[in-house]
Amino acid sequence: MISALMPNYNRADLAFERGEGAWLYSTDGRRFLDFGGGIASSSLGHGHPHLTQAIAEQAAKVMHVSNLYRVPQAEKLAERLVENSFGDSAFFCNSGAEANEGMVKMIRKYHAENGHPERWRIICFDGAFHGRTLAMISATGNPNYIKGFGPAVDGFDHVPFNNLNALRAAITGETAGIMMEPIQGEGGIRSANDDFLPGLRAACDEFGLLLGLDEIQTGMGRTGKLFAYEWSDVVPDVMSLAKGLGGGFPIGAVVATAAVAQNMKPGTHGTTFGGNPLAAAAGNAVLDVLLAPGFLDQVTARSDLLRGELAKLAEAFPHVIQDIRGRGLLIGLKLGVPNGALQAACLARGLMVVAAGDNVLRMVPPLVITPEDCQEAVRLLRLAVQDMTEAKVAAQ
Ligand SMILES: *Cc1c(COP(=O)(O)O)cnc(C)c1O
Repeated sequence: MISALMPNYNRADLAFERGEGAWLYSTDGRRFLDFGGGIASSSLGHGHPHLTQAIAEQAAKVMHVSNLYRVPQAEKLAERLVENSFGDSAFFCNSGAEANEGMVKMIRKYHAENGHPERWRIICFDGAFHGRTLAMISATGNPNYIKGFGPAVDGFDHVPFNNLNALRAAITGETAGIMMEPIQGEGGIRSANDDFLPGLRAACDEFGLLLGLDEIQTGMGRTGKLFAYEWSDVVPDVMSLAKGLGGGFPIGAVVATAAVAQNMKPGTHGTTFGGNPLAAAAGNAVLDVLLAPGFLDQVTARSDLLRGELAKLAEAFPHVIQDIRGRGLLIGLKLGVPNGALQAACLARGLMVVAAGDNVLRMVPPLVITPEDCQEAVRLLRLAVQDMTEAKVAAQ
């Protein structure tokens, strides 16, 4: 018999009733260290007093009014995103896929308004993940996500990641822009090479294309900068955000330069809930924490601690942990054992982590983790690795 809740997810038989910081407490009385962070979304952890108070207070005042009226909370959030990024203007929506849809529409609209409606195709990369709407499964390009949902939406061309020659060869008179993740998240925490982003920017400038960065997973402090592009000298023309932006409250955003944003005149795009007072209050509360002096340096310090401990574990079990990838608190462990099996072994030990492509185990904990949380996570991971290697010996 079909479950009332549609069976489109592969859920662990586990539910939580409350959380505090990086810890979650299950309905059956156990506690878990959450290094999956609701898939890189619970940026302030669970029950963060500033975030929960901001949401509760705003909910009691006014939650939703629609975009027929001014929303001061959204104006403030937009001003702060603009002030702290390359952008001049921000649009709010409700999810990552929706932010990417908006970003692609803005890239196309820019060319249409500048006399080049024939420029509408977007170059994407093998191993990318951009979301699950009809257009974004095509942008993602993974045949498993497209199968059964009709013909792929046209307009997305794919080239290998980190290959500038292939990228330049794929540009035609119909190309409008490039969409890329500075570090591929779902694809297996694969970082762009140091010369790749500058190479993309140069190609965009040479051919009049727009550079769109999908910072849905890498943005909002995840890598130790507010946005991952800040690790380079490159600025994009447009950028999508979601995941950590609301600290667990659903909100997405597109941040764009004036040249891109000025084409989005009244009536061109919209969404009923986008940037409503409640969602914007959550976003502002998250930014209060992320922008506090020293916070992002603390993310880097936690990352250094965690990566140091993980390196010791990798040294002890080189056949299990083959590589440590990513930046800041976006950490990928390239495994020599199946990632799903180690993920399950971790959960049995009370550590929540997430699988990613390329047989990678992903750690994307709340950005507020303590040094003790880091030590405990690696202790639990070590136990899980030992459980797996002992189970393997026992099976032989
Ligand atoms: C999660 C993610 C998305 C999709 O976001 P949703 O909120 O699930 O629609 C898009 N791009 C990247 C890089 C992501 O990590």
